[in-house]
Amino acid sequence: MPPTQALSAPQKALLKLGLGRDIDLALHLPLRYEDETRIVKLRDAREGDTVQIEATVTASEIAYRPRRQLVVTVDDGSDTCVLRFFSFYPSQQKALAVGTRIRARGELKGGFLGWQMVHPTCRAADGDLPDALTPVYPTSASLPQSYLRKAVLGGLKRAELSDTLPPGFAQEIGLEPEWDLRRSLAFLHQPTPDTSLAALEDRSHPAWQRLKAEELLAQQLSQLQSKRERARLRAPALDTVRTEPVQALRPAQGERNLPLHERLLAALPFQLTPAQRRVSEEIARDLARNVPMHRLLQGDVGSGKTVVAALGAAIAIDAGWQCALMAPTEILAQQHFGKLIGWLEPLLAPRGQRVAWLTGSQKKKERGEMLQLVASGEAALVIGTHAVIQDQVRFRNLALAIIDEQHRFGVAQRLALRGKANSGQDGLACTDVEEPHLLMMTATPIPRTLAMSYYADLDVSTIDELPPGRTPVVTKVVADSRRDEVIERIRGQLAQGRQVYWVCPLIEESEALDLSNATATHEALSAALPGVLVGLLHSRMTPAEKKAAMSLFTAGTMGVLVSTTVIEVGVDVPNASLMVIEHAERFGLSQLHQLRGRVGRGAAASACVLLYSSGDGGRLGETARARLKAMVETADGFEIARRDLEIRGPGEFLGARQSGAALLRFADLATDTELLDAARRQAPLMLDRHPALAEKHVTRWLGGRQDFLKA
Ligand code: ADP
Ligand code: MG
Repeated sequence: MPPTQALSAPQKALLKLGLGRDIDLALHLPLRYEDETRIVKLRDAREGDTVQIEATVTASEIAYRPRRQLVVTVDDGSDTCVLRFFSFYPSQQKALAVGTRIRARGELKGGFLGWQMVHPTCRAADGDLPDALTPVYPTSASLPQSYLRKAVLGGLKRAELSDTLPPGFAQEIGLEPEWDLRRSLAFLHQPTPDTSLAALEDRSHPAWQRLKAEELLAQQLSQLQSKRERARLRAPALDTVRTEPVQALRPAQGERNLPLHERLLAALPFQLTPAQRRVSEEIARDLARNVPMHRLLQGDVGSGKTVVAALGAAIAIDAGWQCALMAPTEILAQQHFGKLIGWLEPLLAPRGQRVAWLTGSQKKKERGEMLQLVASGEAALVIGTHAVIQDQVRFRNLALAIIDEQHRFGVAQRLALRGKANSGQDGLACTDVEEPHLLMMTATPIPRTLAMSYYADLDVSTIDELPPGRTPVVTKVVADSRRDEVIERIRGQLAQGRQVYWVCPLIEESEALDLSNATATHEALSAALPGVLVGLLHSRMTPAEKKAAMSLFTAGTMGVLVSTTVIEVGVDVPNASLMVIEHAERFGLSQLHQLRGRVGRGAAASACVLLYSSGDGGRLGETARARLKAMVETADGFEIARRDLEIRGPGEFLGARQSGAALLRFADLATDTELLDAARRQAPLMLDRHPALAEKHVTRWLGGRQDFLKA
């Protein structure tokens, strides 16, 4: 490839799609196919079929009712058909002049007036028909389908595709030997016209089986490789059974023998739930080992992950090390800071230790002081946003890194936090430590079976119960036209001294999408609720403004908080009892669930109103309806995750959630379980017996994306 600046726009677009290598192009498979190999006579067609016809234009005119459109009538000798275009260029109109012979491809609709096609693909009827199905590739706006097709075929021709499956594997899982990688790819890029589109679509064809098996094997190999690499690394063993406090600057007299985490437990205003106790023990066991922990703590919104994190931090601090906690937003970091300070500072202060705070919006002087605290080790606990992983931040001895809402962070950021161990480079006490322990927390759980089989390299702890005394949130789906009733309901809650969230999807009115404007809603609500402080929170505000709005709400002074989705994660105001989500149909299921989790945190009965607007057609899309229905029917985060999986499919699920890049493109974890099991059994054998082949296989399939799998 030439240097980037010399690349054309489509070449750049190729790189952006991750299609830099020949093999990447060869593995970029079509989304679907169009059958342009056959001409269908209108007489033989059925309503609803997508067909290609060859016909002569007999009339062409622009009509104005019910709206401006180009109406072209064609005749194929067996019948006539009307082609309608609601948007068109003059050049298209010219190409469809009376007398021209064309091929038109589209969905046939019947009706009183005979056959019709709306926006068919048309071309002049010259040249032979193609002899293979036409592939349609996933692409981006700046990369035309025709350019991509040529690039893919070129890549396929050049790519090195020798067999990398270990001996015996193909037979073991019943792959058909004649379908090797090259033939499978060639076939899927250009299937012969006699191929059943159904076999291609449900991915049951032997060529698909081959690719899915190869992909799953690559994924399992890569996971196992990183697991083995990690097992060779060293981390400090943080033992909870303590005789002497190590390195506490001033050990408090009299408390010498009571571990910090036990003192924290004793000071909490509540008892841990059994689930919290169980996961805390799992974490403590990992921390006591001298290999780095790599654990995902999943638990529904409000299940109490923060205190579990605090207990882990206490163990690390007690053993004389530092702990860092990184949260995706300043507000969330702020909340953690408040909670953890409240819990830990009274215990740390007598030891001469502090909690440091790092965010992007900090004043230079304050930041300098904090960096100093972190570098000297005086700050035993460091809390903040992305600022925690910036270059200037040097830890004296970081042993535990905790990432909250981990799916909101990119892989690079997670890797950077891990790289912070020993960043002080003062050679003190930690020269042989390469990695901190890593605890990732998430409220968007991966269904358990999926997590276990897919993430060979990740240990998973699950909090599967909520603290006692929570009243379930009642969820209602309400049409936007009934806003007034919702406002009435808000008045009712405010009269009882409760507080209300109102969430809008976007900050600015966009012409294309008729989304409510948070600012306009804020004004409307302020006008409708005289005497009530209605606040506004959106992503364009400065951190200081956000903080100010948030603290008014937390203090109870503000009755209603209108917000864009910035409050999505972690906000904890137990007095809030009503959550209104506007344009709920535009949110993802797990996002809705997270938002709903902001209420129902106290003992008061709480409700969530999902306002939807069905637009012109008066009907919601099918998936939007499925999401809203799921919200009404269940409040269980795992059930929500399962439904989300059902609605969206696992590829997208894992991709978007866990890495920002889809990791599995071909295999489907819900249905390809046998292939996954086989790949899981094979991976360790292959790494041991055929390490070079394994390396080649992983590089071919994952190339530069391996880091995604390891983080
Ligand atoms: P999340 O898992 O969503 O991060 P939090 O850690 O914010 O949940 O906890 C939600 C609320 O529940 C907090 O106010 C927290 O102090 C409280 N909490 C946590 N554990 C318990 C418990 N065992 N009993 C009662 N309240 C608890
Ligand atoms: Mg949380």
